[in-house]
Amino acid sequence: MIDLRSDTVTKPTEAMRKAMYEAEVGDDVYREDPTISKLEELAADLLGKEDALFVTSGTQGNQISVLTHCVSGNEVLLEKDSHIFYYEGGAISAFAGVQTRTLSSDKGAMDPTDIQAAIRGNDIHEPETGLICLENTHNRWGGAIVPLANMKAIFEVASHAYVPIHLDGARLFNAAVAERKSVREFTQYTNTVQICLSKGLGAPVGSIIAGSNEFIGRARKWRKRLGGGLRQAGVLAAPGIIALTEMVDRLAIDNENAKHLGEGIKNIPGLSVANSVDTNIVLVDTSEKGIPSKTYVEKLKEAGVLAVSFGPTTVRMTTHYDVTKEQIDEALGTIQKI
Ligand SMILES: *Cc1c(COP(=O)(O)O)cnc(C)c1O
Repeated sequence: MIDLRSDTVTKPTEAMRKAMYEAEVGDDVYREDPTISKLEELAADLLGKEDALFVTSGTQGNQISVLTHCVSGNEVLLEKDSHIFYYEGGAISAFAGVQTRTLSSDKGAMDPTDIQAAIRGNDIHEPETGLICLENTHNRWGGAIVPLANMKAIFEVASHAYVPIHLDGARLFNAAVAERKSVREFTQYTNTVQICLSKGLGAPVGSIIAGSNEFIGRARKWRKRLGGGLRQAGVLAAPGIIALTEMVDRLAIDNENAKHLGEGIKNIPGLSVANSVDTNIVLVDTSEKGIPSKTYVEKLKEAGVLAVSFGPTTVRMTTHYDVTKEQIDEALGTIQKI
């Protein structure tokens, strides 16, 4: 099987497993796990923030961030296809008690003028705007890179109105590597950020949220409230350290493999590529073939390639550490055949 369902399917590397075995541990609820502390310091530094917090998943990181930024009754501005709105089970409404206000975008980049217009004033009829959420790369827009200039413009509008920005940067490193920039260049335009260690970076578990000391202090309490306070979890943080120190640069290979896959698919009659393949995601459009994406995904699976349905006639394929260029060629052969 060639598994292109997601970059979450990567298995920990040999170096990660070794680091897990050897990790020094302690009780992290008492702040006594040296490996977790090391990961958090490293992540805060890379992301250009004062402090960072190790959390169990990207979803938990986003949820803790919304809970920490907002109070119930706030309104959160976010892109209409964002992960926080689309794929987190309505959790920000259920847990943080906020209402969502979605905005459309150009490939994940919301218009700063629309943001400006959507930020609430002082009218007693209106909710207060508690937070703006950005996503980079943007998953449902096919791993699209939200341009730095757009992030900067939104940050300026938001700062002017004293509204904080949270960046869902589950795949931020894919964007940074593709643009040959440091992640700090992106995170300078956000108050807080969530990054996934368990996607393209290959760690088995975990995400990081980063922000000011004050923010992370309060986020730590929300994490505990949600049952996310971990004990001897240095065994989980150890592969996270490797993810951040050894696995970033190689994301360029995943991005290249996705380009190669996209180019190959463009040459197959009846299929087209619906995104610009900025990073490691290819969105395949099956409409010309007249086949619903779910049927197409079944056919692919029978032939040994795993992908996911991403809309009625859209299939998502994601490249990652555990698929080689040779396997991409093999998958293209299979796609051609069916
Ligand atoms: C995967 C993903 C998440 C959530 O991460 P989990 O670890 O699966 O909870 C959040 N945001 C985006 C954009 C993602 O792609």
